[in-house]
Amino acid sequence: MLGGVVLCLGLLLLVFALVLRQRAGLPWGRVAAMDVGAGRPLERPLVAMRYRLAGKPDYLIERGGAVIPVEVKPGRRAPRPYDSDLMQLAAYCLLVEETTGRAPPWGFLRYADATFRLAYTPAVRRRLVALLDEMQALLDADDVSRSHDDPRRCAGCGFRTLCDDALAD
Ligand code: SF4
Repeated sequence: MLGGVVLCLGLLLLVFALVLRQRAGLPWGRVAAMDVGAGRPLERPLVAMRYRLAGKPDYLIERGGAVIPVEVKPGRRAPRPYDSDLMQLAAYCLLVEETTGRAPPWGFLRYADATFRLAYTPAVRRRLVALLDEMQALLDADDVSRSHDDPRRCAGCGFRTLCDDALAD
């Protein structure tokens, strides 16, 4: 009798966990670390010194011996993923590769109602490294020009009063 109750309770908990995972849009696999909620926190950021890169993905999932980063943007809805989000995810793939010694086959990007998969191919890696080099050159430069023509963006910018390039007063 007691065994049956424990079994039912176990099944209920399993179903509950599956529903929660489906709502979060997480792919199947063991959650090795998460940077949201209270369980299994990723205590330190992943660091890749030679790329001068550090970051914490929302989740790290273990599947088939690979560690797969998952980035969750619950407020975002779009039919296709934003390029900037894909590059952020690619950066997490690079961090996993550098810290575990094994490149993940892909990463997952979760929006409010869709999950996208980014294949971490050599082409994606090359594009990311080129982007990191470009960003680093801009960070090292003494003077950088404005990269947009959007007055609203300048109006909301905290550097507006100091910036010679601002489009809004
Ligand atoms: S105020 Fe300057 S730094 Fe800020 S968004 Fe505009 S151009 Fe960029």
